[in-house]
Amino acid sequence: MGERAPDGSSKTGKSAKKAVGAEGETSPAKKATGKAAKKVTKRAENPAGKPAEKKAASAAKETAPAKRTAPAKKAAPSKTAAKKSTPAKKTAPARRTTSARKAAVAKKVKPAGVVLPAEAAVGKAAPVKKIAVRPPGGESPTALVRRARRINRELAEVYPYAHPELDFENPFQLLVATVLSAQTTDLRVNQTTPALFARYPAPEDLAAANPEEVEQILRPCGFFRAKTRSVIGLSKSLVENFGGEVPGRLEDLVTLPGVGRKTAFVVLGNAYGRPGITVDTHFQRLVRRWQWTDETDPDKIEAAVGALFPKSEWTDLSHHVIWHGRRICHARKPACGACPIAPLCPAYGEGETDPEKAKKLLKYEKGGFPGQRLNPPQAYLDAGGKPAPPLGAA
Ligand code: SF4
Repeated sequence: MGERAPDGSSKTGKSAKKAVGAEGETSPAKKATGKAAKKVTKRAENPAGKPAEKKAASAAKETAPAKRTAPAKKAAPSKTAAKKSTPAKKTAPARRTTSARKAAVAKKVKPAGVVLPAEAAVGKAAPVKKIAVRPPGGESPTALVRRARRINRELAEVYPYAHPELDFENPFQLLVATVLSAQTTDLRVNQTTPALFARYPAPEDLAAANPEEVEQILRPCGFFRAKTRSVIGLSKSLVENFGGEVPGRLEDLVTLPGVGRKTAFVVLGNAYGRPGITVDTHFQRLVRRWQWTDETDPDKIEAAVGALFPKSEWTDLSHHVIWHGRRICHARKPACGACPIAPLCPAYGEGETDPEKAKKLLKYEKGGFPGQRLNPPQAYLDAGGKPAPPLGAA
């Protein structure tokens, strides 16, 4: 799931070792505060615990139109008391009081309509910086949220079998495969890992491995020396610090050599069912084309896009976007004429618009070709997908 060339070819670059050795990490999200009331939309974030009041406050910000509420007032520690007995003039500036009322209302009345990121939050997945919805184009935040969610729904229909495109049987294999996927394709990783996991099935085995032997196995993945150091290093860390188990928390995962936020989210989302957004090269390109955000920093993209969707959708959203980037919305030649979300895309026309010509640009199962996994899920095969060939096969 690492960064890879959009057309399926391996990338090269001076930064490869750097990328393999140490992915970037971001600091935990800041907690929601009452000051955020002015923002049109805000996703409640809380790295540890997520008090219900803050979630409710965030939900209220998204749903309760300002006109329907009295002038705002500050959310006091005791909201009920403040509402019943404390006159507005004595408590706080007007806007703050509205915030308190919104929070109180949101706790009691579940808003109808769209599911909000805050209320849909599940699990204790990774902290992400909270951020307001700020459409880079001329549309309103509400319109952007609706359009973004509609794109995701459409993509869910186009790729109902979307899944992580790395072969794995357990969290350890997914973790190693994800680290290996930096600067190459998932296909190449999938063709390489069978030999690796046959020889070193557990963290203890890889931790004690002869680096030269591992290098020979990993050679097809490119940057095999750096990747060997990473997978042996992370295996040692798993053995020494986590009892040989892959931890299920972001803060633990990112302590492993070669594991950053993106890799951690892949593991959390696909091996532990904890939602996370995977901002790879496809994801970055597509969300900018769709004007979901104009951020360029992966962590800021993650936060901006996260604000548009319920947390429970983050993992599948990542699959949908990445799959679309690999199959239709390519970096250099997007197949706009064969794109099912063209009516929702501000960048329509950036690629080939002639339907027949665009069709020829489609890749993997959309173009009638094999996928990236040697062992894809049954749903993929049922939909006409083909398994990838093993290493060395035609
Ligand atoms: S219309 Fe073109 S640019 Fe927009 S998502 Fe589709 S392929 Fe990509």
